[in-house]
Amino acid sequence: MSAVNPTLQYPFDSAPPAGQRLEIAPGVYWLYFPLPFALDHINLWLLADGDGWTLVDTGFSSAHTRGIWETVFRDALDGKPIHRIVVTHYHPDHIGQAGWLAERFAAPVLMTRGEWDLTTRIHQASDAQVGNDFRAFFGLHGLEGEDLEAMANRGNTYRRIMPELPPTPEFIAGGDTLTVDGDAWRILIGRGHAPEHACLYRERDRVLISGDQVLPKISSNLSVRSHLPDEDAVGEFTGSLKAIKAELPEDTLVAPAHGLPFHGLHQRIDALCGHHEEQLDAALQVCRAGPTTAFDLLPVLFRRELDSHQTMFAMSESIAHLNSLMARGDVQRQQRQGRLYFSAA
Ligand SMILES: [Zn+2]
Repeated sequence: MSAVNPTLQYPFDSAPPAGQRLEIAPGVYWLYFPLPFALDHINLWLLADGDGWTLVDTGFSSAHTRGIWETVFRDALDGKPIHRIVVTHYHPDHIGQAGWLAERFAAPVLMTRGEWDLTTRIHQASDAQVGNDFRAFFGLHGLEGEDLEAMANRGNTYRRIMPELPPTPEFIAGGDTLTVDGDAWRILIGRGHAPEHACLYRERDRVLISGDQVLPKISSNLSVRSHLPDEDAVGEFTGSLKAIKAELPEDTLVAPAHGLPFHGLHQRIDALCGHHEEQLDAALQVCRAGPTTAFDLLPVLFRRELDSHQTMFAMSESIAHLNSLMARGDVQRQQRQGRLYFSAA
């Protein structure tokens, strides 16, 4: 869902060429990796760390990404090794190359326990399990026919695109401090897009590596998964954003995983929270008119054509908004003939 905020300030006009680095703050370097799908690219962050580098996020698992990494190894590391790899969250464009890089540099991977638990949970599921979970969960929420079958028949795409997991990580948690080249980077936790998404904040000059938790131009997908079917991902997302806003100053330089680095953290968080309030209001209006499934809400929350891949993300986000209304006591849920219907309380 697009949510452009024109008042943000972008100190850099454009990303560095793929394979090259660009310093955005002392010792903080931007690596840009084009992606072969709609998301277009991911930004990774290289932190100068004495006789080596601390890397934040790793890129999608593909020969294309590894080709760009080879250029980085040659041109952008000053001959020094990557000696620590931080993965912000479980999504494949972030964790995808962690195993390959960890092996190449004999470097530890650092992740939160929540992200690692979900990584292994998804990775180990069989194609049949994934298909059955899809049919049961999205079917209960009103999806049927070709779209549901197309999704279910894909099986475990996560494992297919990322056959190798990194070794068991060293766990990090909210409030922990990583020392990088003598500077303290504090771990802040985001939720709703991923269960325990790590953001990194350097207090000295107010730099936030925000991963997918705070993006300048798009609102991160909020997902409810079948193993936690009642999760209020909207409340988790906006609640963790408000905590980040309360903790960090407005003049923080935000280094996101997608889009350009920007100033305007507080405004951006307000805009993201406002967007989800509007979506909740729109969903509640529909529930007031009569019993509604998550599928019924798609044209209200997403006013555009969705292909089957986008439908999966949209369903998950629609369920997230209904769960949030339920958590607030604004709607109640009833199961009838194998469908979950939500009505205004
Ligand atoms: Zn993500």
